[in-house]
Amino acid sequence: MIEHVVGHDPDCLFCKIVAGKIPSKLVYQDDELYAFHDIKPWAPVHFLIIPKMHIPSMAHLQAEHAALMGRMMVLAPQLAMEQGCNAYPAGGFRVLANTGDEGGQEVHHLHVHVMGGPRPWLKG
Ligand code: 5GP
Ligand code: ZN
Repeated sequence: MIEHVVGHDPDCLFCKIVAGKIPSKLVYQDDELYAFHDIKPWAPVHFLIIPKMHIPSMAHLQAEHAALMGRMMVLAPQLAMEQGCNAYPAGGFRVLANTGDEGGQEVHHLHVHVMGGPRPWLKG
């Protein structure tokens, strides 16, 4: 059974980034969303979009999060272009949400990776 956890977790790395307790290179923020450059980029463009509220993973999503997740998905292409990804279809970008241990998730605050730019990439 997955608990429905929202709000702020003082021990969470990405909650600390949202709160400014750990520095990050800001890409975008509004009331609900925060985007910042990945500290170990795999690609020429690599940033993360997260909800400001602490949702541990995609496995925790409920119907009430549909609008928030929709906003994240609409924001991804806008920010990808602003950050220098090349235009579709020759360019494009990759959106990735690792979920749980078997899904490769290391930081347990929901995030989507947005990666793009000319190949080759380090991975992905
Ligand atoms: P996951 O494996 O959970 O999908 O991805 C977590 C991502 O967060 C990794 O790509 C990792 O490089 C990034 N990351 C981990 N710690 C920090 C940090 O302190 N600052 C930033 N900007 N990114 C981080
Ligand atoms: Zn958090």
